[in-house]
Amino acid sequence: MPEKNHRLCISCRTVVHRDRLWRIVRTFPDHQIQLDSGMGRSAYVCPSMECIQLAQKKNRLGRVLRSPIPAELFHQLESRLLKNVENR
Ligand SMILES: [Zn+2]
Repeated sequence: MPEKNHRLCISCRTVVHRDRLWRIVRTFPDHQIQLDSGMGRSAYVCPSMECIQLAQKKNRLGRVLRSPIPAELFHQLESRLLKNVENR
């Protein structure tokens, strides 16, 4: 078991504190795919382009959440990533 509050990145499989990962949630019971918050099945990914693209290309996110993932969600992740880089 990972340590408390540590989560696994679905792409690179690194275990880090969940504050350092982005959370994607398939909400219950309405099955929306959304970022950050909500109750339901969740997956975590590093804020890095490699991990985001891997989650999309190999459909890892879709498999973990057992749901098709809208391309829009990946656009959201990527634009958030770009903002983070600019603010550094
Ligand atoms: Zn990762």
